[in-house]
Amino acid sequence: MDLTHVTRYIAGRDTREPVCAYLYDLDDLRLRTTRLRAALPEQCALYYAVKANSDAPVLRALLGVADGFEVASFGEIERVRGVDAEVPIAFGGPGKTDAELEGALRLGVGLIHVESTLQLSRLDAVARRQGRCADVLLRANPAYGLPGATLQMGGGATQFGIDEALLPDVLAQSRTMPNVRVVGLHVHAGSNSLDADTHLALIDRHIALAKRLRDLHGLTLEWLNVGGGIGIDYQNPERHFDWDRFCHGLAALLRETAPSTRIVFECGRFISAGCGCYVAEVIDLKRNHDKWFAVLRGGTHHFRLPVSWQHNHPFQVLPNDHWDYPFPRPVVERQPVTLCGELCTPKDVLAREVPVDRLRVGDRIAFTMAGAYGWHISHHDFLSHPHPERVFIGGQP
Ligand SMILES: *Cc1c(COP(=O)(O)O)cnc(C)c1O
Repeated sequence: MDLTHVTRYIAGRDTREPVCAYLYDLDDLRLRTTRLRAALPEQCALYYAVKANSDAPVLRALLGVADGFEVASFGEIERVRGVDAEVPIAFGGPGKTDAELEGALRLGVGLIHVESTLQLSRLDAVARRQGRCADVLLRANPAYGLPGATLQMGGGATQFGIDEALLPDVLAQSRTMPNVRVVGLHVHAGSNSLDADTHLALIDRHIALAKRLRDLHGLTLEWLNVGGGIGIDYQNPERHFDWDRFCHGLAALLRETAPSTRIVFECGRFISAGCGCYVAEVIDLKRNHDKWFAVLRGGTHHFRLPVSWQHNHPFQVLPNDHWDYPFPRPVVERQPVTLCGELCTPKDVLAREVPVDRLRVGDRIAFTMAGAYGWHISHHDFLSHPHPERVFIGGQP
């Protein structure tokens, strides 16, 4: 997002309380999603993975520009249905209860990603009680993984999906269940894939797996959901995943291998990371045992992503020339500084020993690329500090 939104927000505040806010540029979100979707081959759909950022204004802004929503709980289904009664929903997750499955069918979820044999049997029973037949994609945990991924969900022992080796048996069982209809395969192999060619090779393997199951074990292959996991290079945002190159290669691959299968992407981070910014004011600055520390009004209770990924989050210093006190203003120049939050734990660090030209108490730090897995994965009430202000800009069609 454009940081002029942040400076305008700061200028427009009518309080002297230190700045602490999340800003989301929903016009930027709509534009980005429109462009991503337009580059995809026609047989592909782009769903948004709600867990990355499930705020109603974000979901509303994506209506009409994303093809649907991927959810992982009944709460997320309700959030999506709260903004639209009909938009397509796909429902994944390893631990779906009977009540969640019932609610999903009642609220018109079109595709359920089933992650185990027992889940399939329970869904069949739930659907029977409602007099329905549920369309299902089996979630595979394939024998291969996503090379270089930050989080791995497939290609090894995890709680996700059905072991590739067991899929033929599950398919056979599914044919004895009158209230479920398996219509394809789902694979989400990992997070933060950064290389277009590697990702294309991965999808090639998903297609090969799906076709093998179709040809040898009778899988109906109307849909292939290839998951999300397309990444953001936080250390070097210029070195982004080359989506155009990827889409170009994908078009050729699909023409050759799967011209009539509906392909679904369910991306979270790649869609919403860039639309958000977390901004926090420096309220203290000190040298401790030869290192500089800036303490922010805010921290990992609002923005847990950097500790969760163990990285230094990208930021910009927004200078603030205002200083009201009669005593000198602490400043550090051309030194590495560790940006800490206000929590009483040494783990409350957003960026460690990053060189700054100049930083003063009262300056603001704008952490960019904070729109996905920021606020929504954080432990907001730890230490009972006030929450950040949350500001949504634009988003109207
Ligand atoms: C988390 C998740 C996604 C989205 O992942 P991103 O890395 O944000 O694209 C998609 N599908 C499933 C099954 C997930 O668990």
